[in-house]
Amino acid sequence: MSDTTVTPEITAPSVPLLPLRDLIPYGLFVAVIATLLLYFVGAEEGATSVFPGMTLHEWVHDARHLLGFPCH
Ligand SMILES: [Zn+2]
Repeated sequence: MSDTTVTPEITAPSVPLLPLRDLIPYGLFVAVIATLLLYFVGAEEGATSVFPGMTLHEWVHDARHLLGFPCH
């Protein structure tokens, strides 16, 4: 009987490295979408309104209050 234990060899998975330059289009896309969301939640009302009426404002009303934007 032997007292040795056998440890299985574990190899580290290879992680692909991406240059930051390849992430620029995705970063720009996320920035544009985030800016649009921030505008529609925070400023789409009254004089800064793009769409007339209160429909869009009512859709994002709860998010507006949740994020602390002034409303009414
Ligand atoms: Zn409100």
